[in-house]
Amino acid sequence: DIAIHWFRQDLRLSDNPALAKAVEKGDLIPVYILDDENAGADAMGGASRWWLHEALRILNDQLGGHLRLYKGDAKEILPKLAALHDARVVSWTRCYEPWRVTRDKAIKERLDAQGCETIRLNGSLLWEPWAIKKQDGTPYKVFTPFFRKGCLQAPPPAVPMDAPEDIHFADPKKEDGAVALDGLSLLPEIEWYKQMAPHWEIGEAGAQAALERFLDEGLNGYKSGRDIPSLPHVSRLSPYLHWGHISPNQIWHALDCLEDDAVPDRDVDHFRSELAWREFSYSLLYYNQELTSVPLQPKFAGFEWQNDPAKLSAWQKGMTGIPIVDAGMRELWQTGYMHNRVRMIVASFLIKNMRTDWRKGEAWFWDTLVDADLANNAASWQWVAGCGADAAPYFRIFNPVLQAEKFDADGDYIRLYVPELVKLPNKYLFKPWTTPKDIMAEAGVRLGETYPMPVVDLKASREAALDAYKALS
Ligand code: FAD
Repeated sequence: DIAIHWFRQDLRLSDNPALAKAVEKGDLIPVYILDDENAGADAMGGASRWWLHEALRILNDQLGGHLRLYKGDAKEILPKLAALHDARVVSWTRCYEPWRVTRDKAIKERLDAQGCETIRLNGSLLWEPWAIKKQDGTPYKVFTPFFRKGCLQAPPPAVPMDAPEDIHFADPKKEDGAVALDGLSLLPEIEWYKQMAPHWEIGEAGAQAALERFLDEGLNGYKSGRDIPSLPHVSRLSPYLHWGHISPNQIWHALDCLEDDAVPDRDVDHFRSELAWREFSYSLLYYNQELTSVPLQPKFAGFEWQNDPAKLSAWQKGMTGIPIVDAGMRELWQTGYMHNRVRMIVASFLIKNMRTDWRKGEAWFWDTLVDADLANNAASWQWVAGCGADAAPYFRIFNPVLQAEKFDADGDYIRLYVPELVKLPNKYLFKPWTTPKDIMAEAGVRLGETYPMPVVDLKASREAALDAYKALS
């Protein structure tokens, strides 16, 4: 018998229940389909495509060169492949993006009609979105009860499985439309992604290494250290989770296996709660299919945005004249990642001080993050905008100078990404426009020449944002 496993956001061999089932059922044909046709407006951004290119190359190596790649409408490709090979089974790990849910349902119906069994299992979440609901059967709208009453009272996540020991591969028919990796055209002509490469070890082994490093060096002190972008207290596991190089069960289980007293409970609990924020985002997306485009709180639909293209462009380039914002945006451009605290600061600045529609920020992140994730990205942007579920209230506007003074007190993070300010003393680093002339000259800074003047006045733009917000109610 032949079994097809359709890899999607589960690019790993270990703890992959759908893959394990397929291997049990027959000789394996592992496939990946780049389906921009069904993705439409949610098609992957540039940084994701670079990551995927490398990830597929590595997965193919892990599979001894047997991974088969296709490009096009999976609704056509998969049933045809199953028929061509007379496959007994097609398996996949569930995805929860609305376009994928609709497409996968249609594929299942076609395979049913062909008499081909489908296996669809969870391998990407700790709990299925429909498993965590309030007692009255409706989904949670507030995170803390979602986590405390929902997740922590639910049956614990499954113990992770090992990779299948012996995979027997089928001999696929040659003329089945498969393309070479380059045929997917995932890489852009301008090789801007090259600067991101040294920051990441892509693939399953890289994910396990990142987890080990974090458990050894980052977790102890996570609760307070996770807010300081210059410290190694965050795991940087987000792209690995997004692409499924590691399962959340593997991470959860690794925490269960820590030696007693190795790490304070407060750090472990807090880390678990962050993993649960990811689950919460998925629940929000599952129950609100328009999360990426429609504010969860309807009154925000009428918000008066300014949407000044010059300001948006300054933000994207990391040239706003507000050092912590520019550091974050440059970290994003150079590495494909941005620290969570700084994501909140740059998003608040875009939405509130620049009064730019959060969907424009969401779109930029979608294109540039290596962990770009429909659920987490949309839910987080709505959270910062104040229009989401359990969101920060709109009127709580971050002051980026105070945020930087608190969370980058030594200025290490800013100096790393904004080298033109490296010699400014800390007293002025967070607000260079207040620097006395002689100190500015000594530090080699000429505002408006070597580094921009702020594109907005922080105080005035804050007041204007509050007025616009008041006009809503
Ligand atoms: P850690 O602190 O080590 O956390 C471990 C894991 O928990 C993360 O990998 C992630 O899966 C999950 N997690 C942590 N914080 C959050 C959170 N606030 N919400 C949901 N899950 C969380 N995360 C993405 O994965 N993809 C995105 O596209 C994305 N866009 C964001 C946009 C904005 C405006 C903001 C404010 C946050 C966004 N986040 C996104 C959430 C968060 O910033 C990242 O998950 C986190 O910074 C990843 O770094 P880490 O793996 O080192 O985090």
